[in-house]
Amino acid sequence: MADAFDLIVVGAGPGGYVAAIRASQLGLKVALIERETQLGGTCLRVGCIPSKALLETSELYEQSQKSFAERGIIIQGAALDIAQMMKHKQGVVNMLDGGIQGLMKKNKIERFAGHGRLKGNGVVEVTGSQPATLTGKKILIATGSVSSSLPGIQPDGNLIGTSTEALSWPEVPKHLVVIGAGVIGLELGTVWRRLGSQVTVLEYLPRILPGIDSQVAAEAQKILEKQGMKFRLGTKVTLVKANTHGCTVEIEGSEPVTCDRVLIAVGRKPCTDNLGLDEAGVKMDKRGFIQVNAAYRTTAENVYAIGDVIGGAMLAHKAEEEGIAFAEKLVTGHGHINYVTIPAVIYTAPEIAAVGATEDSLKEAGIKYRAGRFTFAANGRARAAGHTEGFVKILADAETDRVLGVHIIGAHAGELIAEAAVAMEFGASSEDIARCCHAHPTLAEAVREAALAVDKRAIHS
Ligand code: NAD
Repeated sequence: MADAFDLIVVGAGPGGYVAAIRASQLGLKVALIERETQLGGTCLRVGCIPSKALLETSELYEQSQKSFAERGIIIQGAALDIAQMMKHKQGVVNMLDGGIQGLMKKNKIERFAGHGRLKGNGVVEVTGSQPATLTGKKILIATGSVSSSLPGIQPDGNLIGTSTEALSWPEVPKHLVVIGAGVIGLELGTVWRRLGSQVTVLEYLPRILPGIDSQVAAEAQKILEKQGMKFRLGTKVTLVKANTHGCTVEIEGSEPVTCDRVLIAVGRKPCTDNLGLDEAGVKMDKRGFIQVNAAYRTTAENVYAIGDVIGGAMLAHKAEEEGIAFAEKLVTGHGHINYVTIPAVIYTAPEIAAVGATEDSLKEAGIKYRAGRFTFAANGRARAAGHTEGFVKILADAETDRVLGVHIIGAHAGELIAEAAVAMEFGASSEDIARCCHAHPTLAEAVREAALAVDKRAIHS
């Protein structure tokens, strides 16, 4: 039996490895168990990072085909080298994995390679290339989530794939059907459309991007359609079949759709298989998420959980926040997390970013608000860059003027939203944002103008 640890972390995604670092900084002796060779979890290996590498590269390719010439840049013979594109993507992942491995060493976190399984009473068994039995005063489960599918539909790892496979296809499918108009469907649909696929998105609901402010989602649909993505809303997929030539997607009440590949992007589910949760007395809810209290303690003494596996927004930065809050609460008794100010970003072009309440949710809750909107078409920097689509919308309490939500669709929305998140964390009013000088010419001026617009005094509209 290996030495006893103060904390054993199971899962080295953004939740687990960040919790391990913070716990180590606070003086705990930490073990980290991960069954994949690379650290960083879904986010680094087959999620946020590789998808962003492909989004950036495919955007460059599309620009070289469509918009360089109008700016006076003539490129002849620009062509696609998918193998090189994938090599670059993998290089980014490998480099960042090396960074996390280095951070583990620097923070003296002992890494165990293999599958961790709780045995009760602080014992965790590691099976795999480096079998071990560990004992810990506290155990943290940070095992994340896996792609879910639809009843009767099984990804075959080839023509019918999830986001994992769609990050590594060796050639461009002629016709790609994406099932689900959520974040993954639109981001990866965008990658392959830019590379030359005809993309059809089948969505069960009557709208795209559930959870996103409906005005922003409607604008996104309009822009994505203009780019060539096809949407069929209110469409229920009942069966997907693959044969040697491609796939057939059966739809309730309509003709089947044929295509070359299918991407299933209908959500993710908690990853709790073979973790020994029953043995350890850890309870899950009806949807399989681990139940925790405000200090992330599960129903089992000394066993905690954070990140996708406990539900809520399935976002890397939410898991990181929880990892830090967990470690600080454990060691100091105090930890901070504000779920209201956790931003969300969708990396389509233009990007979509949001923090706080949507207009839909304020209406539903009967909260009186004032909305200020400013379009990027009236922003000088956006004009110069040729990114004039979209707008910034700020929602402020009608009585107190406190900012309740900020929604941005436009170039670099994912960077612009940070200002809104900080403002909301500080309890800012729209007047506070409006009074802050923003450099000219920047896209951020659109945020200030939207704040001015709350009080109907935007300057440039
Ligand atoms: P999602 O929940 O965002 O979207 C799934 C979509 O599939 C929904 O619109 C849903 O209505 C639709 N759907 C469900 N069943 C269907 C059916 N039978 N036929 C047609 N459509 C159907 O899920 P996702 O896009 O798979 O993403 C999974 C998780 O990963 C999300 O929580 C997301 O936030 C996270 N993620 C985040 C980012 C980011 O922050 N940029 C990127 C990728 C993934």
